[in-house]
Amino acid sequence: MAPQSFHYSGLTTGVLSGALDRREAEMDVSALAARAGIEHHIGEATSIDLEHRRLGLSGGETLGFDIVSLNVGSVTRDPRQLAGHPGVWAAKPLLQLFQLREVLEEAFRRGIASHIVVAGGGQSGFEIAAAAMGLAERHGLEPVVFLVAPVEPTWAPKAAISHLTRSLQRRGVVFMKAEVVAREADSCLLSNGERLSCGLLVLASGLEAPPIVRSLGLPMSADGRLRVSPTLQSIANPAVYAVGDCCLVEGAPRPAAGVFGVRAAPILLRNIARRGEGPPVRYRPQTRWLSVMDLGDGTGMAVRGRAWWSGPSALWLKRELDLRFVRRVRGRSTGRPGAVL
Ligand SMILES: Cc1cc2nc3c(=O)[nH]c(=O)nc-3n(C[C@H](O)[C@H](O)[C@H](O)COP(=O)(O)OP(=O)(O)OC[C@H]3O[C@@H](n4cnc5c(N)ncnc54)[C@H](O)[C@@H]3O)c2cc1C
Repeated sequence: MAPQSFHYSGLTTGVLSGALDRREAEMDVSALAARAGIEHHIGEATSIDLEHRRLGLSGGETLGFDIVSLNVGSVTRDPRQLAGHPGVWAAKPLLQLFQLREVLEEAFRRGIASHIVVAGGGQSGFEIAAAAMGLAERHGLEPVVFLVAPVEPTWAPKAAISHLTRSLQRRGVVFMKAEVVAREADSCLLSNGERLSCGLLVLASGLEAPPIVRSLGLPMSADGRLRVSPTLQSIANPAVYAVGDCCLVEGAPRPAAGVFGVRAAPILLRNIARRGEGPPVRYRPQTRWLSVMDLGDGTGMAVRGRAWWSGPSALWLKRELDLRFVRRVRGRSTGRPGAVL
């Protein structure tokens, strides 16, 4: 059960910055399922009845199950319920960022550089601010992009964050230490009482499991993800499996990043396929992982543990890894339609 198209996060900011065509980041789930011999129900699971083991589907029908595996990713955390207000976009679902590019591009083409506020100082907040700036730069514009975050970022070594902050400041990004608490007609209200002129607000305020996971009544982590044992089963219900952003492995918490779901997937498959045949395999997420940001200006920043570097070669590496991954999943070699970079 999954929607027809999958949007690959590693290339999303490349699309937002105008470097890539959105088709490069989209995958056809039906084609993938057909190649793997899997029956694909197009749509979304809307409810899960654990007692009667039935899944409610977006088409209105239901599906019985013996076990259920949740691989539903994450949604943007929105404690102030800002999403849904006019001119507010969320980092997830990623489709919103593709749509945001269209809206920004339309305005930039007409020479309108409205003020953009990005709420959230995590890796995706920085990357979205850089990508929005990159898209404006491609149109020869200099919009004001505000990056609003209540705490100092800690997701990379201090020197890397300082370097990135300085380079974004040089490109025109304004950093504010506060929280966006309300969206008003043409502005945003901040927790320090200030009002920022704001044409578009992008929420990059953290990720949590989608409502369907939260609705199960199973134990959740403090940051809103399903608590699973290293065998990738809910700690309270072994018939519920999960991998990726929607869950957190007991004793090995990790941030939401694609690499963990990808590495956990073969273990999930093995444990489901051989359920009841001996002890399940335990998943141990790696303690170091490479993460490369696309900075929207032809450069990137790569971080692995305490090591980091920044520049065109980091972006080159990111593109290599991401495009290779997409090609491998698609099962065929593709060109790069519309690539500008
Ligand atoms: C702007 C941005 C940039 C990022 N860049 C990177 C990066 O460069 N590298 C990286 O490693 N991570 C990156 N991340 C994090 C990355 O998006 C996630 O960690 C990763 O996608 C998690 O994989 P997943 O399989 O758990 O979920 P997802 O990739 O989100 O996949 C979940 C799938 O489940 C489907 N789904 C959701 N609900 C239902 C339902 N009810 N029924 C059926 N299907 C459903 C969705 O449509 C989707 O296809 C980025 C995140 C953001 C916001």
